[in-house]
Amino acid sequence: MVHLIKYKNSDEIELLRQNGQLVGRTLAEVGRNIKPGVKTITIDKIAEEFIRDNGAVPGFKGYGGFPNTLCVSVNDEVVHGIPGNRELKEGDIVSIDCGTILHGYYGDSAYTFAVGNVSEEKRLLMQRTKESLFKGIEMAVAGKRVGDIGYAIQHYVEGFNYSVVRELVGHGIGRNMHESPEIPNYGRRGSGTKLKKGIVICIEPMINLGKRNVYQCDDGWTIKTTDGMPSAHYELTVAINNGKADLLSTFDFVEELLTLQKK
Ligand code: MG
Ligand code: MG
Repeated sequence: MVHLIKYKNSDEIELLRQNGQLVGRTLAEVGRNIKPGVKTITIDKIAEEFIRDNGAVPGFKGYGGFPNTLCVSVNDEVVHGIPGNRELKEGDIVSIDCGTILHGYYGDSAYTFAVGNVSEEKRLLMQRTKESLFKGIEMAVAGKRVGDIGYAIQHYVEGFNYSVVRELVGHGIGRNMHESPEIPNYGRRGSGTKLKKGIVICIEPMINLGKRNVYQCDDGWTIKTTDGMPSAHYELTVAINNGKADLLSTFDFVEELLTLQKK
């Protein structure tokens, strides 16, 4: 973690936007291949190939020793799941977290997908976790504080009796994947670092259907809910601006795909 906030100029923000767009398109490519019977390692390979075909490098592969391009986290796996021979099953929800490096800057975005038809409970968890991300983004403007983002997310999801994972948080992003400031998904209004134009952050609520407690598995990566209940995760990158957050990454490509799939 870089401890001083690195403010970005407009050129750097454009490079981060290029990463954000590529990550968004990679998530759509992944989404196209999510179905019952598919191995998580298969979608990982598809993502790696797509990123490299677009002149970029997977951002997670080798980061802290992580072995793959995607973090693939199924049901009670919160984040940092390692792709492998596990086959997705009808009714699973699967969180895909994807990173890129293009022109020396990072992209980082996550989306939770349904595998076939999922329970109403899981569908609502996904929908509301995504909504909470946008509640956080509304607070990501110059003059607000980091605690305003966390409060907005926490207040929204706790209204449904969901819980916020505390051990993992959002972050600044730039030439490093994880920069200051940390962006917790819980907090007090008006507290924490003041947001200023030029700060670029990843907001990434990890929301549990049950209790907030999590643990790390023996593989040294996968984070699971202690109670075995499902968890959802959505992440976007935003540049702090006056008036309104500037979204650098996007779910547009994914959602275009999901809309087509429904037809
Ligand atoms: Mg991520
Ligand atoms: Mg992140």
